[in-house]
Amino acid sequence: MSSTDVSAKLFADAASVIPGGVNSPVRAFNSVGGTPRFITSAQGCWLTDADGNRYVDLVCSWGPMILGHAHPAVVEAVQRAAADGLSFGAPTPSESELAREIIDRVAPVERLRLVNSGTEATMSAIRLARGFTGRAKIVKFSGCYHGHSDALLADAGSGVATLGLPSSPGVTGAAAADTVVLPYNNVAALEDVFARFGDEIACVITEASPGNMGTVPPLPGFNAELRRITAAHGALLISDEVMTGFRVSRSGWYGLDPVDADLFTYGKVMSGGLPAAAFGGRADVMGRLAPLGPVYQAGTLSGNPVAMAAGLATLRAADDTVYATLDANADRLIGLIGDALTEAGVAHQIPRAGNMFSVFFGEVDPVTDFASAKATETWRFPAFFHALLDAGIYPPPSAYECWFVSTALDDDAFGRIAEALPGAARAAAQARPA
Ligand SMILES: *Cc1c(COP(=O)(O)O)cnc(C)c1O
Repeated sequence: MSSTDVSAKLFADAASVIPGGVNSPVRAFNSVGGTPRFITSAQGCWLTDADGNRYVDLVCSWGPMILGHAHPAVVEAVQRAAADGLSFGAPTPSESELAREIIDRVAPVERLRLVNSGTEATMSAIRLARGFTGRAKIVKFSGCYHGHSDALLADAGSGVATLGLPSSPGVTGAAAADTVVLPYNNVAALEDVFARFGDEIACVITEASPGNMGTVPPLPGFNAELRRITAAHGALLISDEVMTGFRVSRSGWYGLDPVDADLFTYGKVMSGGLPAAAFGGRADVMGRLAPLGPVYQAGTLSGNPVAMAAGLATLRAADDTVYATLDANADRLIGLIGDALTEAGVAHQIPRAGNMFSVFFGEVDPVTDFASAKATETWRFPAFFHALLDAGIYPPPSAYECWFVSTALDDDAFGRIAEALPGAARAAAQARPA
């Protein structure tokens, strides 16, 4: 195993100034153990850590880096924008250009508001849905993550699941009281809730295809059922595409499963690795936002010109060839992982949503919701993860996360992956429950 001394020292230093040494919990490797790698640079599909180790990146900053790291067109656009000034607190042309780029791709998105994170996008969309309908209750699904705003932190999948928290202290009963949490992929449960208090429900929010309890795609027709039931009761449907948007197709999950939600939320890919996100949808609903309407929403750095440049360069570079390459890279990676696990006699399933997937172990029923995800042999994951990491591959550090490919994966990278997998599969086979 290569040295991790410098990362270990940096982690200890970080822990003396930042709680847990990280600014987002999953980075601390809590669910797999070991030393989080401190990354100092990245190029294409390769990450370099502070000890000089190189890793094939299969996390891609949790999705955004579809073109790989430091893509020349994106870096150049960012440099050009930065040279013109970093922030003005006044409207800039690039905001409308990015909004137009998204509106042109997703038919039901007629107006778009830019914000700074996926958390802000979903939080604002919920406020707008409540303001528009005059209703208080919201419905979300167990295992779906929509950022860390109070009302949405109930039963929220990976990050929270990894820490073993049912929700979070600091979220008051009042903040979560109007949040109804239902099992995913279960139409009967939703029908039942709407039958009981349909006229109090402002919206249903769902991940377009969930990726925060591992990859758990909607069963065929599930999103269409959400549309039918919400419409029948005058509730809005919010499709959270922060993870899937512009990753799984030019039009996000909507491109694969075109269900007309009232509101959509975006983040991750749309800002190419810089902090920006968005929510958008029906013009009459979006027209309730300030300054047109009474629903307040704002942001000092919203529509930041450097972030807009990164997003525009990324989306404009992401043509059909890019999505075909992402799909082909996912095919190849899934094939290698599946073969290695089969060869080592490890029962597994690799659920897939476009080019996103995750690896669940065990002789268990197909994963369709958070309960069935938790019933898998997640205790095999740390051994699998660390064998790959030691061999210079960087998979997501939790069984409940997606693996993300980029177009930058090349034969070199696949060669290293193919070499590492048999050992990792044997490590998974030999793992024992804690
Ligand atoms: C990542 C994510 C969010 C939160 O986005 P942040 O930018 O981390 O606040 C919301 N919804 C989904 C589906 C996500 O994957």
